Amino acid sequence: MRDVRGDFPIPSRTFAGRPLVYLDNAATSQKPRAVLQAMQRFYEQSNANAHRGVYRLAEEASAALEGAREAVRRFIGAADAAEVVFTRGTTESINLVAQGWAARRLRQEDELVVTELEHHSNFLPWQRVAQQTGAKLRVLPVDFLGAPQFDELGAHTKLLAFSQVSNVLGTILPAKRLIQAARARGAAVLIDAAQSVPHLPLSVQDLDCDFLAFSSHKMLGPTGIGVLWARRDRLEETEPLLLGGGMVREASVEHSTWLAAPQKFEAGTQPIAEAVGLRAAIEYLETLGMDAVEKHARELSSHAVRQLSQVPGVRVHAALAERAAVVSFQVDGAHPHDVAASLDQHAICVRAGHHCAQPLMRKLSVAGTVRASIQIYNTLAEIDLLAAALAEL
Ligand code: PMP
Repeated sequence: MRDVRGDFPIPSRTFAGRPLVYLDNAATSQKPRAVLQAMQRFYEQSNANAHRGVYRLAEEASAALEGAREAVRRFIGAADAAEVVFTRGTTESINLVAQGWAARRLRQEDELVVTELEHHSNFLPWQRVAQQTGAKLRVLPVDFLGAPQFDELGAHTKLLAFSQVSNVLGTILPAKRLIQAARARGAAVLIDAAQSVPHLPLSVQDLDCDFLAFSSHKMLGPTGIGVLWARRDRLEETEPLLLGGGMVREASVEHSTWLAAPQKFEAGTQPIAEAVGLRAAIEYLETLGMDAVEKHARELSSHAVRQLSQVPGVRVHAALAERAAVVSFQVDGAHPHDVAASLDQHAICVRAGHHCAQPLMRKLSVAGTVRASIQIYNTLAEIDLLAAALAEL
């Protein structure tokens, strides 16, 4: 991992003579030079609109976009690149399923189920669907370590939506068991993979889910692009939310028809350079191997739980073995924002607050937590710096 670190410009920065310790990777990750260079190369050599022109430069741009789609397909183990829809990120992907699929299909007698630890991006869209359709929104309780209780799945459940990894507790949910439980009741499953795709090897065919949403910027790629993967039949059932150029088969004054997925959902000019950057991020992760990436996150987060638990006055919220790259904690007598501001004096970047998961904060009976989150360039020594700074505080 020492070799990896040199690939990333920002982790080498200093603030007032102190080396930067970037531990806010669940919010967004840093980018390796390979990603930045791939985007620059695209703009310097191949920039044109995709799927518009017949000249060779435009064909290069189209090939760049479709090459990125194929890289995503491979990375998430999808059967067909046509199942990979580019969006702006996890939030947009989930809203597309909520409004384009669920709001049109659910009825009053149906139920939508989420878990108690969802990010607002995987909670508010379903709350609106429930209001629009009269369907009931149920919340699957989690215990204090983030393990879901299965009891709330009923015969009327039409959709189960859950995040595979909690952005607050780092808990890796038992996705396969949840999916099987939902399937047994005939329900569709959406996985919010914002915190899992960057850290775990994953295959949508193996998981057997219906929808999977994630963002490029948390997995070493650029902002402005993300993915909705869905099984082909689900994409056929989903209506596009954005209408316009690039998604139309035939338009007339009376009636218009759409192209097949993924173009049906990609109206307007696509984020082509960002797609190129996402592909470079995927190839970078593939070179490291996702098994090694996962192992590194587990090692560092276990080390963080051990080290932070030994600091007097620090209460760590995660104790599960099934934990990915996130550790949340509390410092007795100090507001999380004050802890984060104090750590910034040590050039340590952590997040403080409710982490867009207010229902979970209520469950934990806290206003917020401090969150340290890890990526491949972080080191055991950085975790020790965090523990030392907390001990001083
Ligand atoms: N879900 C989870 C679990 C997240 O952690 C995040 C990002 N914090 C999101 C959804 C939203 O991702 P984005 O802001 O990239 O749309």
